[in-house]
Amino acid sequence: MTSTADNLQVATRLDADVLVIGGGPAGTWAAITAAAQGAKVILADKGFCGTSGATAPSGTGVWYVPPDPGLRAKAMNSRWDMGGRLADPVWMRRVLDQTYSNVNLLSEWGHPFPQAADGTQIRTSLDGPDYMRLMRKRVKAAGVRILDHSPVLELLRDGSGAVAGAVGLRRQRGDLWQVQAGAVVIATGGCAFLSKALGCNVLTGDGYLMAAELGAELSGMEFSSAYAMAMEHGSVTKTRFYDWAEFTYADGSPIPGAASKGGRTAIARTLSAGKGVFARLNADAETQIAMRHAQPNFFVPLDRSGINPFTDRFPVTLRLEATVRGTGGLRLLDESCATSVPGLYAAGDAATRELICGAFTGGGSHNAAWAMSSGAWAGSGAAQFARGQRGRAAQLYRAGGVGIREGKGARIDAAGLTHAVREIVLPYENTYQRHGARLEASLSTLDGLWASARSADEASRDEALRTREGLAMLATARWMYRSALARTESRGMHKREDFPQADEAQRHHIISGGLDEVWTTPAPVAGPALEVLAA
Ligand SMILES: Cc1cc2nc3c(=O)[nH]c(=O)nc-3n(C[C@H](O)[C@H](O)[C@H](O)COP(=O)(O)OP(=O)(O)OC[C@H]3O[C@@H](n4cnc5c(N)ncnc54)[C@H](O)[C@@H]3O)c2cc1C
Repeated sequence: MTSTADNLQVATRLDADVLVIGGGPAGTWAAITAAAQGAKVILADKGFCGTSGATAPSGTGVWYVPPDPGLRAKAMNSRWDMGGRLADPVWMRRVLDQTYSNVNLLSEWGHPFPQAADGTQIRTSLDGPDYMRLMRKRVKAAGVRILDHSPVLELLRDGSGAVAGAVGLRRQRGDLWQVQAGAVVIATGGCAFLSKALGCNVLTGDGYLMAAELGAELSGMEFSSAYAMAMEHGSVTKTRFYDWAEFTYADGSPIPGAASKGGRTAIARTLSAGKGVFARLNADAETQIAMRHAQPNFFVPLDRSGINPFTDRFPVTLRLEATVRGTGGLRLLDESCATSVPGLYAAGDAATRELICGAFTGGGSHNAAWAMSSGAWAGSGAAQFARGQRGRAAQLYRAGGVGIREGKGARIDAAGLTHAVREIVLPYENTYQRHGARLEASLSTLDGLWASARSADEASRDEALRTREGLAMLATARWMYRSALARTESRGMHKREDFPQADEAQRHHIISGGLDEVWTTPAPVAGPALEVLAA
């Protein structure tokens, strides 16, 4: 149903060349780059830009590799096979170049990188709070207007179908804002299904839903089975330190085959069986000091609980991070990070990272490099597109549908919907250890939830955000499972119990989309094989 935006009761109307949605690394790099090209930019964040999202409370390793041919070749090789040979070496090169230049810029801007013994800066990791504080400062210095605590609820389009802005909520006042814009960058991060993983409380897949409502496509949504290790009841999911862990049952006996790398299935199976999993980190004294220095926040919940992780066994769990550390997301059409919707660009975890990681997790360094590189390209692409839109007198139409339009049914129970989606998605046997029968059953329940949500009446202002978040998670889960069913093999992080081997005939991408009818279709891998590029 076509609906103009005229009747929306909006308290604040603004206009911009470029609207950036999301203020994590991808969004802030997009905003700075667009502003540097002369665009008038507004950035809207669900939380407070600089403290919100996956990077801000944590820290990230970065794929920062000096332009030495040997080092670059090694870096590109490192995930080529693990990623099921789905990455594109041309994009890998682009990201390595752009990341090198952006990280060096961070140094010029005064980011406090740690120093090696010889005084040189160690630029392969970024402390989250320092990084994002600096990015907020640079965004403001670039003249970008920031709307904090202002989640976008839906996109706006013009009569031709091009994106033309967005409408959001001002959480602190409870009213609506609207931005009319020549181009929009979706940088809303991934979707972790409110699994309580650190920094993921705002990452509910909103950008996927609002882009799909305009017809954007997704890619690689089957690569969404990322679970990270955490202390039981804790949210800190820095997994790297569990490389030192010895995993045991409650009685202290070792769990056969359990390991953080290459042994998570044994851990998932033990947890699924309702048995506790315990870890102790067997690191030497020097490494222990280095660990505390590198990731102090890893130790906070342990210290508070009086646990010494190097001597005590402590209970651990796996927390779903789905597309945050998976590689699926909005499909990109070209080097400017354009989606299939005119004027709509995507960056960071909101976009697919298959281009540099293929089928294997983007966590550990690639996602951070991707966020800053794709952010810069999307900001630049959006600024250029918006230049051609200046002066257009557009009639604005609402693109958003479910949950925010008048309907015949009762209002959606946002908490109930979220609970129902999480009940399906969080268990390891549905999302991590996949099997066609379980995927079909999950999908059938999720499709039923969508069908009943479809006719629901508009949510109250107080419930609008939670309702849209619940729907975004529901839509995300349906693209994930439909894509997982379409890949009848095991590749990268996508592991099917009923198809345990990789199938060379399925070395392709799986594109997905649709809301009422979710569809998938294969698409060929575009880039050359890595060995061809190297030859
Ligand atoms: C604990 C943890 C550790 C990680 N460590 C690494 C690592 O070491 N190396 C690595 O490469 N990657 C790592 N990652 C992956 C990490 O997600 C990315 O590197 C990076 O944060 C992606 O940046 P982003 O800007 O795309 O998303 P985010 O940093 O997640 O930012 C998304 C932003 O969008 C906003 N937003 C969401 N919905 C809306 C809406 N509706 N309206 C407006 N704003 C919205 C959010 O508030 C948030 O500010 C880690 C992830 C986690 C969870």
